Formats: sequence, structure tokens, C-alpha cells
Amino acid sequence: MSDSIIDSNSIINIYGINYFINKSPDTSRIDLHVLDLNILKEELKLDYNYDEDNSTIQKSQQPAFTQLTYNVRETITNGGYSTSYNRPPIGPIENYCYCSYCNNISPSFHTETCPFPESKSLNLTIEGIY
Ligand SMILES: [Zn+2]
Repeated sequence: MSDSIIDSNSIINIYGINYFINKSPDTSRIDLHVLDLNILKEELKLDYNYDEDNSTIQKSQQPAFTQLTYNVRETITNGGYSTSYNRPPIGPIENYCYCSYCNNISPSFHTETCPFPESKSLNLTIEGIY
């Protein structure tokens, strides 16, 4: 009999898995990449899904795949920029705030492609000033 590593009585709490793939030593040769991560990030089935109509996360029983985060640092001639993908999206956005990057307003969540789904990206709405 094998024991599950995810045991509700265990003192170990697994909250995330970092998975590093496509780490070819020659990054210029895209044909050496095993998987197209841009396709995989959108097609990987998760157990938690965002209900856009109700601004809630539809959850399933544990153990479950609850969150997918994919961050990429793009380099350009004079520096670079970061892209971010989160499914289900990060949120909800705090009351009386909107995100200056994805323009979503509370109680919505950030968009899945919001580059900075963080508290410091939030600004007050007119309602929040009063
Ligand atoms: Zn955002």
C-alpha cells in the first residue's frame, strides 16, 4: 500500500509546484523546445475555474490543481518587460479600486493576462475618494 504525499493529517502543506521545462542550453533554437508553453497555459485543465458572471472561483475538492501562473521575461534591445498569465485570474480587486494595468474594477478579478495583478497596481475609483 502506498501513502499519498497529500494527506490531510500531514504537517506538510503543499501549496505549489514549480515546474521548469524547455530549458535547452541553446535558447535561440526554438525547435529544441519540447512544449509550446503558450498553448499549454491555455489548454491545461484546472479544477478551479473563474465564474465571470458572479466574480467567484468555482472550487472542487482537494487535492486539486487550483492555480496556473506563467510568467515570461521578454528581452528587447533596450531592456525588457514581463508578461504574466494567471488562471483563474487573481482577485477579487479590493473595494472602491480599479487596476491601472487591466482596467478591471472591484468586485471583478484582474484579467488572466494582467501584467501586474498586485495591490500596488490598484488606484481608487471616484467612489473610493468620497
Ligand atoms: Zn489588473
